Amino acid sequence: MENKLIFIFLDGIGLGKNESFNPFTLANMPTMFNLIGEKLTNTTNIVKQDFLIKGIDACLEVEGIPQSATGQTSLFTGCNAQAFLGYHLMAYPNDQLISMINKRSIFKYANENGIKNVFANSYTDGFFKSFDIASTNYSVTTRCVLAAKNSLNTLNDLKEGKAVHWDITNFTLQDESDNKIPLITPFKAGENLRNLTKKYDLVVYECFMPDMIGHSKDMNKALIFLEMLDDFFKGVIHNKQENIHVLITSDHGNIEDLSFGGHSTNQVPLIFMGKEAQHFVKVRAIDEIFDIVFSKLFNVVPVPKFEKI
Ligand SMILES: [Zn+2]
Repeated sequence: MENKLIFIFLDGIGLGKNESFNPFTLANMPTMFNLIGEKLTNTTNIVKQDFLIKGIDACLEVEGIPQSATGQTSLFTGCNAQAFLGYHLMAYPNDQLISMINKRSIFKYANENGIKNVFANSYTDGFFKSFDIASTNYSVTTRCVLAAKNSLNTLNDLKEGKAVHWDITNFTLQDESDNKIPLITPFKAGENLRNLTKKYDLVVYECFMPDMIGHSKDMNKALIFLEMLDDFFKGVIHNKQENIHVLITSDHGNIEDLSFGGHSTNQVPLIFMGKEAQHFVKVRAIDEIFDIVFSKLFNVVPVPKFEKI
């Protein structure tokens, strides 16, 4: 596969106003600033040959506040899950969304088209011990891995640098009494993520910390996170080969507006780095990314309308 993609999904990041309640206007993010020349806000719109940033819609013409289960299902199946349910569903996918994911989702579709893929996140020993396929407490990405019959990364994979933990630096693992995982720098975590492209064509990574921080309305934590994210991003793109593309997006806004501590209806960023950036100019909403990734980046046959499969 000539083109490779690192798909970084950040839960709860929208494009907000240039106001003091928006941590993007205060955070020190030199890597991002060097790329875009300004703070990332709702007026940022950059289209270059090999770099794109634009705001895209996460509400998908369904009334109400966008939520994680439906937003993530739309992102990772390429079908408007909000419209399918008729409402925005919080947190984890219900049976209807799981049936959508089982039909078509990012890893399954990649497998069916010969695209070597991995969900980069690691799962704790506790997760495997209590694993129950019937549980309704698994995220969309976990459901996508299960639907594809791919394996989930363990803490041993993380230790060997073959996975990246959801918290980027492994800091949430440090208090465990039998912890065997060292703390790493965000830059190193970014390099580890990028190195997965040596073996895989499609690497997906999820971090839900911005959503948690958004709900807490904690500006200090938000600034620490954004500065860590910038270093992580620096590691991802450091010495990146030309055939490796990076896509960053979200399921709904939250952290960009700490004035109220909930999800926002703001547009979410679509950031694309790589020579295929022009294909993403026409993406207007989160459910349109799937099709462009597969049909333009990986050149598989046109992705069928979800209703037809
Ligand atoms: Zn949330």
